[in-house]
Amino acid sequence: MSAIDNLPPLREVIQTHELAARKSLGQNFLLDLNLTAKIARQAGDMADCDVLEIGPGPGGLTRGLLSEGARHVLAIEKDRRCLPALAEIADHYPGRLTVIEGDALKIDPLAHLTPPIRVAANLPYNVGTELLVRWLTPPEWPPFWQSLTLMFQREVAERIVATPGSKAYGRLAVLAQWRSDARIVLQLPPGAFTPPPKVSSSVVHLTALPEPRFPADPEVLSRVVAMAFNQRRKMLRSALKGAAPDIEDRLNAAGLSPTDRAEQIPLEGFCALAREIAKG
Ligand code: SAM
Repeated sequence: MSAIDNLPPLREVIQTHELAARKSLGQNFLLDLNLTAKIARQAGDMADCDVLEIGPGPGGLTRGLLSEGARHVLAIEKDRRCLPALAEIADHYPGRLTVIEGDALKIDPLAHLTPPIRVAANLPYNVGTELLVRWLTPPEWPPFWQSLTLMFQREVAERIVATPGSKAYGRLAVLAQWRSDARIVLQLPPGAFTPPPKVSSSVVHLTALPEPRFPADPEVLSRVVAMAFNQRRKMLRSALKGAAPDIEDRLNAAGLSPTDRAEQIPLEGFCALAREIAKG
């Protein structure tokens, strides 16, 4: 019997359902249910929330979320081999787990969710970063989610929480910190996963702020930041040449020096510049 529910241990689930991990799907499973419950707790109080879980796999984190009291979990999984294992969990927690088979990059889950909504996932890193950027850049704020609790390789997690002046500071930090609080809440060694990946991982917890820290148009900010960091070693006046014909004037008006580099500019500076550029 496992520690958090009386479903079979995950190793047994994997054997029964022949869920040998597939590299093509980025499958590195968490089999320790105490650990998955600990990750689930980082999501905060879930008793009155629907939780969107992407990539449940054999269901370790799903079981953590349910045993920690999530009102309802909507799980989207691409690998149909995992569905019977997930159906067993759904039977064990009647009415509290819905599973959709498909690609999370192509499915709009909102029709199946009732606010307030939290998101939790241990995803392949490329899919995770793409979804994170989407979740951070909706045209309207606040977004559909209250919090995101996501596993990343440590280097990506450090980019999300990075501060100006560090090598890790870039587009992800600006987008994440503009409209949310982002913290690394857990560090996991490769051995926490089966099979172990090559690098260490971190769980990042992001809480949506009610309003952006500084006003800016999301689309303009996103574009300016992408341009600035695409050529991060160049001075802003050349990295941002394409952003506006009179970029030096715009930089000055935003209180920035045309000879600064993107790495040195705090969030407030990028927002001021986005406002200047949006003036047209
Ligand atoms: N959450 C499980 C755990 O912690 O043990 C599995 C984690 S494993 C790193 C990633 C999971 O995401 C796999 O089950 C994989 O099949 C699934 N996955 C990969 N790409 C996906 C996609 N585009 N949409 C939905 N699920 C995906």
